[in-house]
Amino acid sequence: MIKTDYHMHTCYSFDSDEKMEDIVKKSIDIGLREIVFTDHLEVIHPNKRIDSVIDYDKYVGEISYLKIKYGKDINILLGAEINLEPSIEKETNDYLSTYPFDFIIGSLHAFEFKDFATPDSSKGLTQDEYYKKYFEWGINCVKKDFNFSVLGHIDYIIRYGGYDNKFLNMDVHREYIKEILKTLIDKGKGIEINTAGLRYNLGHVHPKMEILQMYKDLGGEIVTIGSDAHKKTDLARDFDIAYDVLKKCGFKYYSRFEKMKPVFEKIN
Ligand SMILES: [Zn+2]
Ligand SMILES: [Zn+2]
Repeated sequence: MIKTDYHMHTCYSFDSDEKMEDIVKKSIDIGLREIVFTDHLEVIHPNKRIDSVIDYDKYVGEISYLKIKYGKDINILLGAEINLEPSIEKETNDYLSTYPFDFIIGSLHAFEFKDFATPDSSKGLTQDEYYKKYFEWGINCVKKDFNFSVLGHIDYIIRYGGYDNKFLNMDVHREYIKEILKTLIDKGKGIEINTAGLRYNLGHVHPKMEILQMYKDLGGEIVTIGSDAHKKTDLARDFDIAYDVLKKCGFKYYSRFEKMKPVFEKIN
């Protein structure tokens, strides 16, 4: 089984109230041996400064304290989930370099600072047009030189846009997705299996299996597993399903990270 949860949020994120220490205690209880805090480091307004989003000294300080207190029971890593926004690429990278991150998720949460989840982002666009806007934006973002380890929830857009179905038409989007995956592989970056897709009733993890298979077939090897928990009861949720999906796609390993470098763990 997978004992490493590589995507979670705490009260340092705007969308969670969970205390870090409660997350750590719960993780130990359910037998995890490594967790990464990946709170949002996200600027969704062009006039905001990055360091106004989270008190990072406090964030890093609390993780250091928890490492000392619980280090014999669990490995705790310093991470972040960043929003890839090309107009502040340098500022984002500079900011990240001031802290000793172990792992960073790069995500496509917003288009030019406008959150993909807000209803008016898709105004006037068909479902295919909206998703195309997302994937084209994704290509643009991954071609930049952001410092991140894995691309978060690649097919995240299927949750949004207010369309009746949650269908991703691969015939329309396959080549865009392929371009994103190839770019990631060329740059030595990975993807994640994000089990929150099941909690959003998509009927599958992020990404859907065809995309994961495509990453494997293109030569991709770096896959982390994360619950994207915003509360402790969702930690490591549906990891048995993630494990099966990985195996079905023919992966022999999943990934952990040590100081921004992937480490491969064998799948039995
Ligand atoms: Zn995210
Ligand atoms: Zn997240």
